[in-house]
Amino acid sequence: MHPVIFVSLGPGEPELITLKGLKALQNADCIFCPETRIRDGRTLSRAADIMRRLDIPIDCIHRFPLPMSKQREKALAAYDRVYEETILLCKEGKKVAIVAEGDAGFYSSVHYIFEKLQTIGIPVEQVAGIPAFIASGARGGLHIASQEERVTIIPGITTTEEIEKLIHEKSVIVIMKLSQCTDEVHRCIRIHPEYGYHYFENVGTPEEKYSNDIKLIGNLHFPYFSLLIIQQNG
Ligand code: SAH
Repeated sequence: MHPVIFVSLGPGEPELITLKGLKALQNADCIFCPETRIRDGRTLSRAADIMRRLDIPIDCIHRFPLPMSKQREKALAAYDRVYEETILLCKEGKKVAIVAEGDAGFYSSVHYIFEKLQTIGIPVEQVAGIPAFIASGARGGLHIASQEERVTIIPGITTTEEIEKLIHEKSVIVIMKLSQCTDEVHRCIRIHPEYGYHYFENVGTPEEKYSNDIKLIGNLHFPYFSLLIIQQNG
């Protein structure tokens, strides 16, 4: 049986996939790829966009709807369907790939399928990729961490007090899922304008934005695909 390969697509720019990931996609018979339905009924799939720009044949790509709601059960039900189909395809001798944006092992809910397949003894493999915060650092020309500095990654929920404490401990802070803590980030900027704030949105796509202007960041409405890197200045 061929292993099911979990391919990391990188942050959005097609060239930021690894060669190993690209070869796995080119080799696959079936690639499962999430899409989300937006308010006006259209579906979007950043993962499918990346693969289109990499010339992966569209008939190999099986898009599945991934509900974005906070209720995890709906997403898990969607993953369970992919899991069932994957088992059938593997038993038919097909080569299956499942894609994730950024790195497939870094805040990537699709890893749930990996664990389920592993539990029942289906061989699985994971291909590393560039996570969005690393691509963001490159986009902003940052040295994300140097010398003795630590890095703390916060997935969404935080407070100004926590940020103060981490900066005091000489940690660089990466806040992902920024839309979940907009007000608190705005408050932190008002209280600590002396910190260095680097804001990134839709890195690696045509809508990409980068700013280190606190006046601008302090008034922004943060979309889902955004993150912030906070460093002690000087
Ligand atoms: N597996 C992904 C992380 C998924 S969690 C990775 O390795 O990067 C989703 C969060 O990642 C988003 O809320 C946002 O904070 C960040 N993110 C993912 N892609 C992004 C992009 N292109 N630009 C900015 N932030 C991004």
